[in-house]
Amino acid sequence: MPPFAEARVDLDAIRTNIEVLRDRARNADVMGVVKADAYGHGMVPVARAMVAAGAAWLGTALVEEALQLRRAGIRTRTLAWILPPGAPIREAITADIDLGVSTRWGLDEIAEAARAAGRPARVHLKADTGLARGGVTPEDWPEVVEGAARAEAAGLLRVTGVFSHFARADEPGHPSIAAQLTAFHDALALAEKAGLRPEVRHMANSAATLTLPETHFDLVRPGIAGYGLSPIPDLAGTGLRPAMTLSAPLVAVKRVPRGTGVSYGHRYVTDRPTTLALVPLGYADGVPRAATNIGPVLVAGRRRRIAGTVCMDQFVVDIGDDEARAGEPAVLFGAGDGGEPTAQDWADVLDTIAYEIVCRVGQRVPRHYV
Ligand code: PLP
Repeated sequence: MPPFAEARVDLDAIRTNIEVLRDRARNADVMGVVKADAYGHGMVPVARAMVAAGAAWLGTALVEEALQLRRAGIRTRTLAWILPPGAPIREAITADIDLGVSTRWGLDEIAEAARAAGRPARVHLKADTGLARGGVTPEDWPEVVEGAARAEAAGLLRVTGVFSHFARADEPGHPSIAAQLTAFHDALALAEKAGLRPEVRHMANSAATLTLPETHFDLVRPGIAGYGLSPIPDLAGTGLRPAMTLSAPLVAVKRVPRGTGVSYGHRYVTDRPTTLALVPLGYADGVPRAATNIGPVLVAGRRRRIAGTVCMDQFVVDIGDDEARAGEPAVLFGAGDGGEPTAQDWADVLDTIAYEIVCRVGQRVPRHYV
């Protein structure tokens, strides 16, 4: 049975993107960030492609995501950086997963789990250098590094990394970038003073990997760029290629008179006799309802807009006097070179970021790897 829609994921593009990033960060290793089901692309196949292209590390948010990689047989060094209460820390230690730590409490939990597991945990201490999200504040940092050094001396853990994350790396020249970098150097110096010798220091996301070589340290952590989407608008010429194409075959095509109200609420009314094409994707599949009347779609060789309200499982496109048949593809986004919109185009019309567009593609849509 042919799929009702598909998210085609070009693993060659993923590999090329990792090569581009490795080239940008020649003196550092690359961590492929595969959290959130590899930004909607499918975590295990993407992780394999990234490792094949030379990613020395993988990064996830949740420990459970990292364990999923291990269950798939992927042994690459993996860091998981969010530890909610009840996270399977002991299993992570046994599975050789490095754990990001942002709190004194997290450090204690890990030491406890390491004692139970009978082997030391590998820990990356996260410094809050100005994002004010995860990470230890500069006030608490001395206490945390000293606590980590004591736990290391007791054989409960090994501090394998120190890291931080940017707030505004996608705004070239923003003063917060330099301020965060200075704060990170301070955090590293204090860690060293406490006797810690991390293998890897890291803070660069995609934007910093591409534009800020002074932030590369030993390891860079690009996410979005690995999927070929740019965190910075004018990065044409980077060689990055969007990996995901979201499409669906038209399920119906019909002629309607002028003045026809289309979809729930009749928020689109035809201004002439016209042809409507029905696409079997809706907000349950990640097409935002906010794309009503504005979402761009390639149908019958031309780029058009969604006509009327996006429903749970379908939306309509007005194709005027053009011809189309049921079964022909509607392409919502892709690499852009066949005239289709890109995820960035969707982000622009919806006033969001391309990250959200690809991450939202629902689990009902089969991923097809090429
Ligand atoms: N590192 C951390 C800690 C993150 O949370 C993320 C994503 O949000 C990344 C790296 C990758 O960021 P980007 O996708 O902007 O490259």
